[in-house]
Amino acid sequence: MFDVFIIGGGINGSGIARDAAGRGYKVGLAEQYDFGSQTSSWSTKLIHGGIRYLENYEFSLVKESLNEREVIYQIANHISKPLNFILPHVPDLRPSWLIRIGLFLYDFLAGRSAFPKSKRLDLLKENLKFLSKNYQYGYQYADLQIDDSRLTLLNILDSENNGAQVFNYTKVTSVDKKDDHWEIGLSNGKKFLSKILINATGPMIEGAFRDIFKREVGNSIRLIQGSHIITNKLYEEDKAYILQQPDKRIVFVIPYLEKFSLIGTTEIEVSSAINPKITPQEKKYLIECVNRFSDKKIQEQDILWSYSGVRPLIQDSSESMTKNSRDYHLDNQLNSERLIHIYGGKLTTYRKLSEKTVDYIDAFFHKKLHHWTGLKKLPGSENNSKTGFKYKIEKETLNRITKNYGGLSDKVFECMDDLGGTGLKICDNLYEFEILYLIKFEHAKNEDDILFRRTKLGIQFNSEEIRNKIHTIINNYLN
Ligand SMILES: Cc1cc2nc3c(=O)[nH]c(=O)nc-3n(C[C@H](O)[C@H](O)[C@H](O)COP(=O)(O)OP(=O)(O)OC[C@H]3O[C@@H](n4cnc5c(N)ncnc54)[C@H](O)[C@@H]3O)c2cc1C
Repeated sequence: MFDVFIIGGGINGSGIARDAAGRGYKVGLAEQYDFGSQTSSWSTKLIHGGIRYLENYEFSLVKESLNEREVIYQIANHISKPLNFILPHVPDLRPSWLIRIGLFLYDFLAGRSAFPKSKRLDLLKENLKFLSKNYQYGYQYADLQIDDSRLTLLNILDSENNGAQVFNYTKVTSVDKKDDHWEIGLSNGKKFLSKILINATGPMIEGAFRDIFKREVGNSIRLIQGSHIITNKLYEEDKAYILQQPDKRIVFVIPYLEKFSLIGTTEIEVSSAINPKITPQEKKYLIECVNRFSDKKIQEQDILWSYSGVRPLIQDSSESMTKNSRDYHLDNQLNSERLIHIYGGKLTTYRKLSEKTVDYIDAFFHKKLHHWTGLKKLPGSENNSKTGFKYKIEKETLNRITKNYGGLSDKVFECMDDLGGTGLKICDNLYEFEILYLIKFEHAKNEDDILFRRTKLGIQFNSEEIRNKIHTIINNYLN
């Protein structure tokens, strides 16, 4: 019997699994698709205080988020990078005194920080390639960019290092409350027992209530879709832009994976969280947002790839989606039902959310609190020791692997021993040995797991031929 069973392997479920397993609980987790394949890979990929939440007076959320920015930078340094954000001043939208107060508060709430303080910029003197000369001054502040799906996977891998049993492509189809435990039915026909159940189904929470718990959702949820587009790199400077739009929303333009620019996000209310897709209107909106600020215009043909994600926001009294709180809510029913439902949240606050959830579990079992997840690095964040290779490997592949896997790259390269070299070349920079590693050690089961969540090469290389090659390797290996 498990102590804790978690439904959902997004960032919140994975973070809870890591924390609880590290505190000595027997943990199980089932994810119906791939780990981190839903909202947790469709974010803007920022660990940030959320400067715009200050306008809604969400000071405690911003403070907790800024604190987490420091912690996550420490524990996940190989998949994260501090980035400067430039906010061009648009006098009609927000007066400069308001922005100055906002940035002062942001710096103040961050306290002693590894990130530089904000400053005013004379934009015309900055030699910025992206911005048109219409914007004379602005402000600069820093936040953290992160690989969101990898952050989720590293939490999964670390939960396993601490003894958790995790299953991707395994849906929880039924839950049945017995006197002192839950009986959990899975799509593969297996049944597990657990003393405690955690519902971390993210934006699919309404479906989980209806289909698995057979009851009405406890809180009223709004599903808000946000979409991003990816283009070839729009400019050389290693800075992101935060662009204020006439509707008072802000849109980010962020350097992404060295070759690309990531642009987002939109906000539209939707009725389902399943398989979100960007609409033509969202594409048009994002293109206009960029073109408003740059002389180098983009158009629909420049979009290389796009993705959409859905956030579940707990309905509050605000009319506007932008003003609806991004804070999370833990519905602790341990004493009555041995159950916790997780509502809402941000990537940034997942570790804190997880810690608070496992604190409730400690309290339920009358155990002493044991906080550890902010002190121990995630797998791969420790130094990489490899110096030489037995087999010849291109510099670009070597660099990409070292960057992506950090301290785990030794283990990736060791898979060349199984093949007596790199094995089959799949496309530029991707060889069979890496696929072998991903199948053996990182739960990869299909082409998208490899091309999108674990390597991101799919943005450039996603042809039928490439997918077939990967498919054959996976089939050969798994059978
Ligand atoms: C457009 C957008 C941009 C964002 N940008 C940022 C950002 O830059 N920074 C930030 O901090 N936050 C950001 N967020 C918020 C952040 O992405 C989410 O808060 C976070 O990813 C939610 O994680 P989750 O684990 O709750 O949900 P999910 O990642 O959706 O995970 C829930 C999982 O539960 C699984 N599941 C559901 N039902 C079952 C079942 N019956 N059996 C098994 N599994 C099941 C689903 O398949 C899913 O994988 C953004 C959100 C959006 C939509």
